[in-house]
Amino acid sequence: MPVATSTSASIVDSVPKQLLIGGQWVATDNTITVENPATGAAVAEVSDGGPEHGLAALSAADDAQTHWAATDPRYRSNILRDAFDLMNRRSDDLAVLITTEMGKPLSEARGEVAYAAEFLRWFSEEAVRVAGRYALAPTGNTRLITMKQPVGPVLAITPWNFPLAMSTRKIGPALAAGCTVVIKPSELTPLTTLAFGEILMEAGVPDGVVNIVTTSNAAALCEPLVQDSRLRKITFTGSTPTGRSLIRQSAENVLRVSMELGGNAPFIVCDDADIDRAVDGALLAKMRNNGEACTAANRFIVHSSVADEFTSRLADRMCAVVVGDGADPATQLGPLINQSAVDKVTRLVDDAVALGATAIAPPIATRTHGYFYPPTVLANVPQTAKILSEESFGPVAPITTFDTDAEALALANDTEYGLAGYVFTENITRAVRLAEGLQTGMVGLNQGLVSSPAAPFGGIKASGVGREGGPEGIDEYLDTKYVGLAV
Ligand code: ADP
Repeated sequence: MPVATSTSASIVDSVPKQLLIGGQWVATDNTITVENPATGAAVAEVSDGGPEHGLAALSAADDAQTHWAATDPRYRSNILRDAFDLMNRRSDDLAVLITTEMGKPLSEARGEVAYAAEFLRWFSEEAVRVAGRYALAPTGNTRLITMKQPVGPVLAITPWNFPLAMSTRKIGPALAAGCTVVIKPSELTPLTTLAFGEILMEAGVPDGVVNIVTTSNAAALCEPLVQDSRLRKITFTGSTPTGRSLIRQSAENVLRVSMELGGNAPFIVCDDADIDRAVDGALLAKMRNNGEACTAANRFIVHSSVADEFTSRLADRMCAVVVGDGADPATQLGPLINQSAVDKVTRLVDDAVALGATAIAPPIATRTHGYFYPPTVLANVPQTAKILSEESFGPVAPITTFDTDAEALALANDTEYGLAGYVFTENITRAVRLAEGLQTGMVGLNQGLVSSPAAPFGGIKASGVGREGGPEGIDEYLDTKYVGLAV
């Protein structure tokens, strides 16, 4: 049974549609239309902020910074813990919002809410564990005391693919560390962040500590903030070109930056892999979130002796996936975010097929609405195919082969990206060598999922700088100050 339209409509109706600045919901003259990607229908109008709203939000964050930084860690911890409880209590409604504006299946949207909430719990625990150190200088006449202090007001820019988890992964550690925040969600999925803003206010976050600005012109709103010396940090998740531009802009004020950018994850299947596990892992690494995750397996690099078996078993599983509106509980794969996402995947698949790859996909019913693409396995993909160098962000699994581990690593590392990689083998020595050899920030060994609130999520090379989650996550929002004490 699909979720009744009236239920999702009333949940969407209940969300504030304005900007949150200094604890007030502020309406603007213009609005952004939010669409449901499963139908293409407009579901809401949300305030469209301009540079003046961004600067007002930064002023509110700056005004709140000194007091927030001086609050007791336990006070901040309790607020985050209350937000965790509230988020879990509202899981069903938040999941409907995520599915409505982003398209992922409802079961996965519930999974995102649980994952997102865990960042609030994790950082509520980290808030009270921030520590410095005390050491004796080698000369013996000075004591070296280090302390951690909040970096100051943060601009958080989030993408549409995990609208709630990307918000909590940034706001959780920022608040725990004592930083205030201006968050700018994606114009495609603003509702989820606005609903999160309400939760934060209910949990007791003081006015101005978290400000939300929605806009159809991210560049125009963000640039004046990045140029303003009151801002001290940018944390961004999104595409590598936008990340590069923000790093360039941030040079002027020498801002702290955390960048979680694009990926091109290799998924290596060795000849001694447990093929059942590898196929399960492949399905998760490829199909989770409609294929729209930066950690998604983008290239399957399979030993030639098991390539046929792996390909046919993966194709059987992918072709059996139920495609549809994410609001229908039977759906396993929802729509892509918009038409340009469908066009991109189509272009990459057409290019691979023109170069000789074989596409295996189920026939899907022609739809007059929504942005659907069928799950597709591409066999025998030549190395020149663009899909091996560009992030497809869709439910397409291109398969290439290798014969030696050195060749597998060379293929896997032949990319500017370095976010996640996956290795399937039953040989421990090989597993360690391949995990060490992959030029990525994260490796899934015999598993197709690397995300965890307790782990340092992030990439190397053009996939970014900094880590989110884990004990490392809060450090991104803290400066180290050293005091030399003569004794
Ligand atoms: P994607 O292609 O995944 O949408 P983007 O990098 O375009 O990735 O978008 C990620 C986030 O960055 C969104 O919130 C978007 O509005 C924002 N964004 C895009 N361009 C800019 C920019 N020039 N300055 C600041 N934010 C931007």
